[in-house]
Amino acid sequence: MSLLGMLKSKLLGGILTGDGDERVAFRCNICGMQCRVERSAIGREIPSCKGCGSTVRMRAMIHCLSMELFGESKVIGDFPNDLHLRGVGMSDWVGYADRLAKKFEYTNTFYHQEPKLDITDIDINMEGTLDFIISTDVFEHIAPPVSIAFENTHRLLNEGGVFVFSVPYSLDSSPVAFEHFPDLHKYRIEQTENSFVLHNVTEKGEVQQFENLIFHGGEGATLEMRSFTLDSLYNEFQKAGFHDVRVHGESFEEFGIYWDGGWSLPITARAR
Ligand SMILES: [Zn+2]
Repeated sequence: MSLLGMLKSKLLGGILTGDGDERVAFRCNICGMQCRVERSAIGREIPSCKGCGSTVRMRAMIHCLSMELFGESKVIGDFPNDLHLRGVGMSDWVGYADRLAKKFEYTNTFYHQEPKLDITDIDINMEGTLDFIISTDVFEHIAPPVSIAFENTHRLLNEGGVFVFSVPYSLDSSPVAFEHFPDLHKYRIEQTENSFVLHNVTEKGEVQQFENLIFHGGEGATLEMRSFTLDSLYNEFQKAGFHDVRVHGESFEEFGIYWDGGWSLPITARAR
């Protein structure tokens, strides 16, 4: 390793291993465990906590939530118990959902099972009732037009309520997302011998067929509907009425949160 690399390693609190890979120590802000792993084993989607299996994305969602609620980054176990704080997760990871439910009036919701939340069709009685909403890597799967989901999220939040959000996105300059099925209306996904086909009938009655579908986390479950760009997200947040939109590219080494690029970073935004 170069002198610069060693210096960087020292600054990051890292420890060099025999094979030259750097080990970093961190505390998981979800389960509280002290961890020490190779730096190369830390990534957005790589489970790196040996206690709960959290990834950088999961720890970053909690880091962002904590910063927005309390102005500092805490381990969930150190969050104050506050049953007046009302929040909702959209298919949140069980690793932090169960812990948040012990701290707050928090409900993890699902699209296909109870407790249900279809963010494209919300209950008006829930409008303005939530202090926070968490949605990580969900909005790329919502049927178009996705703007409704941003608008309804804003409606559910109370004044100053915070949206803690992530999706995969590129830094392409397009001001709108690349919709894979822009005229999706009445559709079904059919499994063929070795792939999946999406059959759609548009609102105007045109029959469409799509192959080469992209699924996340298990085929057939989570169809990718679009590729966001950062600019398209800024536009959606603004159109929906959010302000203080912040992209969280900051590393937070104490909790093992490192980012290597400017894409797919968590975003927070405030309602009203
Ligand atoms: Zn953990």
